[in-house]
Amino acid sequence: MSDTLWWSCADCGSYAELPAEESEGFDIGCPDCRRPMTAQWFWEDRSPEAA
Ligand SMILES: [Zn+2]
Repeated sequence: MSDTLWWSCADCGSYAELPAEESEGFDIGCPDCRRPMTAQWFWEDRSPEAA
């Protein structure tokens, strides 16, 4: 079971989904503007809306 952290950029609105164990405690840089991103919430083993 893996938790997922969602990171969002307050500057350009980009977001990234990263495994919590890989991203927790790290500073995630925005791929678009390279500013620090902010962790939003955990996704607790809940399936995303299937297309
Ligand atoms: Zn950004």
